[in-house]
Amino acid sequence: MKQTASVAIIGGGPAGLACAITAAECGDSVVLLERMDRTARKLAATGNGRCNLMNTRPATYPGGDDMARAVLARCGVLEQRRFWQDHGLILREESEGRVYPATLQSSSVVDLLRYHCERLGVQMLTGTTVAGLRQRDGIWQIQTEEGILFCRRAVVAGGGKAQPKLGSNGSCYALLTAQGHTLKPCRPSLTQLETDAAPIRGLSGIRVKATVTLLREAAVRAASEGELLFTDYGVSGICVMELSRDAQPGDVLSVNLAGPMGLGSPPALYQDLVRRRSLWQREETEKILSGVVLPRLALRLYDAANIRWQHHTAGEITDQQLLSLADVCFDFRIPVTGKRGFENAQVTAGGIDSREFDPDTLQSRLVPGLYAAGEILDVDGPCGGYNLMFAFASGILAGLDGRKSPYRRELT
Ligand SMILES: Cc1cc2nc3c(=O)[nH]c(=O)nc-3n(C[C@H](O)[C@H](O)[C@H](O)COP(=O)(O)OP(=O)(O)OC[C@H]3O[C@@H](n4cnc5c(N)ncnc54)[C@H](O)[C@@H]3O)c2cc1C
Repeated sequence: MKQTASVAIIGGGPAGLACAITAAECGDSVVLLERMDRTARKLAATGNGRCNLMNTRPATYPGGDDMARAVLARCGVLEQRRFWQDHGLILREESEGRVYPATLQSSSVVDLLRYHCERLGVQMLTGTTVAGLRQRDGIWQIQTEEGILFCRRAVVAGGGKAQPKLGSNGSCYALLTAQGHTLKPCRPSLTQLETDAAPIRGLSGIRVKATVTLLREAAVRAASEGELLFTDYGVSGICVMELSRDAQPGDVLSVNLAGPMGLGSPPALYQDLVRRRSLWQREETEKILSGVVLPRLALRLYDAANIRWQHHTAGEITDQQLLSLADVCFDFRIPVTGKRGFENAQVTAGGIDSREFDPDTLQSRLVPGLYAAGEILDVDGPCGGYNLMFAFASGILAGLDGRKSPYRRELT
């Protein structure tokens, strides 16, 4: 293989495909190199197969917020809506500003991006791993097992390390560090947490609404609200995934189950528990919490409140024990023992230092002609479409390379 193109894009994920489309629409000849047998394998798996591709509400990015803000100021909700509209994708906004394709199928997004690449004559070399980059006299040499490709601009959009089975295995970091760029330490984010087995014994499969606070040596590190899913290894669900970025073994989760149910405060819940106790005097203890939580969860809450439920009827539970139970419903403690690794994570926290790139074009401030887009940068957002939104925005801007377009807002 000895080819020339004006732009070579390394990585056929959302950032790479969006970049290919806008560059080709500007008249560039584009080659896209993808190590997997198909492009956008990860995009196809997003949002439980529904593809939550952006969010209309502003949010703070826990990693690389300055870069995310700068990129989204140039290619934000309006510009991305326009991009999808012009390329024929009907969008549908659901709760909390989450935007999906109207079909609620990620395959619609994947197919559409591939069709436009084909329409625009983008050459897609799948099953092609890029192993090295070299610049000579302003021309890039892209090294693959099949040979060398020559181009004027090289865009590295190879993703991070999350879910390597879907393509992104961290191999592209070395392409940029070899050019003098800085790699910040990487860790899995938006992943599940492993916990002590005892407090959650028998709860696997139960979903609850909760506010979860991450505590380290009694100090609050972070908090999140949403669905929590008990599993056989620990806990999952959106609110847990959002805390995973900061979590480490030795931390403790404080799970507030009662607040999101509108059960007021511990004293108010205590009054209610007293009433419930009188209703179920001679019955099994767990009936006190019937209608509040599932019986399996009720038993673990009794354990946490030091109530020996096996030996009592509801009427034998003391006022002091009911006070503890009310407290536990607002503060159910689960010690963290670890977190699921890159194989399960949705994104990588850390990556190539985004300050080394111009947010208007995504061009390197160190090496002219070199660009980076998407998750390879040290930008990671919360759940809700923010990671794809950054991937698409940075890809679109890298493809445009500062040229005028409805998908790029000119900032004065
Ligand atoms: C299960 C799951 C669900 C998710 N759901 C959502 C969601 O609903 N909303 C949201 O906003 N975000 C979601 N994310 C995160 C989102 O998918 C990523 O942030 C996004 O895909 C990053 O896009 P990217 O183009 O930068 O990288 P990637 O999508 O990782 O694409 C990079 C591509 O580069 C290729 N590549 C890597 N190295 C090389 C090489 N050396 N040579 C050639 N090719 C290479 C890879 O094979 C890959 O195809 C989810 C992630 C996962 C894993």
